[in-house]
Amino acid sequence: MTRLARSLDRLKRHYDAVVVGSGYGGAVAASRLARAGARVAVLERGREFVTGEFPARFPDLRRELQLTGKRLSIGAPAGLYDVRLGEDMHILVGCGLGGGSLINAGVALRPDARVFADDAWPDEITHDGLLNEGFARATAWVRPARDPHAADHSKFQALKRASTALGQRPVAAPVVVAFEETVNAAGIRQPACTRCGDCCGGCNVGAKNTLALTYLPDAVAHGAEVFTLARVRSLGKCNGSRWRIELDQSAGGVHADDPTSVTADLVVLAAGTLGSTEILLRARSDGLAISDRLGHGFSANGDIIAFGYGAKIPVNAIGVGHPAKVAGLQVGACVSGQVEILDREELERSLTVQEGVLPSSLAPILPVLFIPNGRLLGALASLVSGVYRGPFAGLQTFFAVSHDSAAGRLVLEEDHIQLSWPGVSEEPVYGRVHAALEALAAGAGASYVANPLAGTMMGRQPATAHPLGGCGMGRERGAGVVNHKCQVFDATPGAEADRVHEGLYVIDGSVMPRSLGVNPLLTITALAERAMLHMARDRGLAFHAAPRTCATGASPATPGLARDAGAPGAC
Ligand SMILES: Cc1cc2nc3c(=O)[nH]c(=O)nc-3n(C[C@H](O)[C@H](O)[C@H](O)COP(=O)(O)OP(=O)(O)OC[C@H]3O[C@@H](n4cnc5c(N)ncnc54)[C@H](O)[C@@H]3O)c2cc1C
Ligand code: SF4
Repeated sequence: MTRLARSLDRLKRHYDAVVVGSGYGGAVAASRLARAGARVAVLERGREFVTGEFPARFPDLRRELQLTGKRLSIGAPAGLYDVRLGEDMHILVGCGLGGGSLINAGVALRPDARVFADDAWPDEITHDGLLNEGFARATAWVRPARDPHAADHSKFQALKRASTALGQRPVAAPVVVAFEETVNAAGIRQPACTRCGDCCGGCNVGAKNTLALTYLPDAVAHGAEVFTLARVRSLGKCNGSRWRIELDQSAGGVHADDPTSVTADLVVLAAGTLGSTEILLRARSDGLAISDRLGHGFSANGDIIAFGYGAKIPVNAIGVGHPAKVAGLQVGACVSGQVEILDREELERSLTVQEGVLPSSLAPILPVLFIPNGRLLGALASLVSGVYRGPFAGLQTFFAVSHDSAAGRLVLEEDHIQLSWPGVSEEPVYGRVHAALEALAAGAGASYVANPLAGTMMGRQPATAHPLGGCGMGRERGAGVVNHKCQVFDATPGAEADRVHEGLYVIDGSVMPRSLGVNPLLTITALAERAMLHMARDRGLAFHAAPRTCATGASPATPGLARDAGAPGAC
């Protein structure tokens, strides 16, 4: 199978545009800039995973785990699952070509309109007409779909039983999954989802519409050069209008003769909430004039994962993987159904609860986490695949998402980013959501387990997989780090408050000025599409963004870089 990435020693000295990071923001920017004819390099700190290479068993998963904290750094430096252990909160993000898309559940929801009506956003977001266009383009490329068999899955039925306790009924959740064989927006043939449930471990079927199967191959098809194991440390201005991007020589996989920097006329920072904020914090301490708001406004998006344990009726919420570890069990995609609890009076109280699936690679350690003396049971379970039949068949996983105050702050400590959010566990969202989840678990005849890892080094801190903010949007530099077009404000003393650094953008989850209250991937993609439309107008670029969906019959059978010979997209 053709890979997208090339080795770092082939990096040229200068590009028209350098994109740092390859999550939703970076992949959109790379595709659109490449389609506009720019010479583009994408620098990604993680490795490339092609379909079939995602961890299938616990030892493989352990090899892909990186755990870092204030005084701790263990595991693979470029491991796929990047866990930041914080004193106030833990954060999980993806590390690899495709960023979070490789390991997320793929739920794609548009926020309540009241989110964008909030004063936290610059007015143009709702007034210039491009927000809807951004969502339309994002939807055409990531293709959310509802499983036509969602209601058949036992985990959906378990959520239905549970949700009567709250007077609610679940609906099928839109997820970025191909439920039928298809040719996707990048012209790549994807097989149908096997409903193996392993989306959060990494899809080994090729049915999840990750960025590695959509925007990124599109960027490469239009000439972008993609480099992995390329960790950016900082950036600064050089030679007037050019930017110098400095690579981290201490990063794993870097060779002594690899380049140490690259220059570009335009830089898109898209290293995610933690990565982009960290790079800009370093750039600011190296002298680049950036808003005092940098690092402020971190939100965990009211995101919670919790469990119901002990239900007598099987829930079947542990993935079976691909190839399937047990025969005859279709658990469904990671999320099939959700309950939407809308508060019309008070947006912050609205809440969405999804039923989730744990990846099959975690199966052997579940008894260790949930049962006293579970180590012995865990050893037995891994021998007989007991977690699919015994009490763990009744394990229910809840993903909840709501709103918090976005009062966290990202700071640099000893050159590394840390989250500071004293008192975060007292945020009202946690009490509200835990009460709702406890009622749901009881409704399903299960005991509520808020945090099975409380007795480990993880402690009782909340955790999130939806970090947002740090480079939030604002009207001017006193209110934000970037403007509504994702251009970075220039905070040079005496400069006009809305002046920007020419050619410097941040396009990813870090630009959200508040919680979204829904899973963020669709909004990040939509705002990235919107930012690229503005960039094209401002810089006189022309790109076509229509999907390459016109299958002609010359169809590659496996996902990868091979494309159907469809007509090039036109808009
Ligand atoms: C387990 C899990 C489940 C999730 N489920 C959902 C879901 O169902 N729906 C949803 O909407 N969202 C979900 N999310 C969240 C979603 O995936 C993220 O919000 C999204 O990926 C963020 O996109 P981004 O563009 O901001 O950055 P990311 O996707 O985080 O990408 C940033 C990229 O930059 C790279 N990078 C970082 N630092 C550097 C550096 N210094 N140099 C070079 N590269 C760098 C990273 O390796 C990464 O590839 C989930 C996340 C996780 C972890
Ligand atoms: S359920 Fe399995 S096949 Fe379907 S998208 Fe998720 S990982 Fe891929």
